[in-house]
Amino acid sequence: MRIERIHNGIVLDHIKAGVGIEILKLFPTEILRTKIDYASYVESPSMTTKDIIKIENIDVNPETLMKLALLSPSITISIIRNGQVQEKITPEIPPVVEGVITCTNPKCVTLRENYLISRFRVAWSEAGKIRKQCAYCEHITK
Ligand SMILES: [Zn+2]
Repeated sequence: MRIERIHNGIVLDHIKAGVGIEILKLFPTEILRTKIDYASYVESPSMTTKDIIKIENIDVNPETLMKLALLSPSITISIIRNGQVQEKITPEIPPVVEGVITCTNPKCVTLRENYLISRFRVAWSEAGKIRKQCAYCEHITK
């Protein structure tokens, strides 16, 4: 698949292969309004395969950057302005994430009490994966 250059917008590169479809869900309204290129399982020299997404005429806010890092820690985000890369961002994973992830423990208090905002402690596991632990019930969500 050929990915065209964009003039203004963002390029999401080095996405873990197959995760791009989850990332597109972070931009539900943009998807309907702007041009998006999405390539999955692209061969890459640094990773075996990766996904790439280009979205025209949008910006990313810090919350979206955090969600992108949680979905794919290897991601790089290039901000394109007037055909030039204005900024290249490798988002950091915060130690604590609030209100973004939903606990997968069906007995968790956050699922019963709607006023509670979910709170997760985020850390790297020994296997090099992100470990998200609920601050309320200690359950680990994948
Ligand atoms: Zn929980």
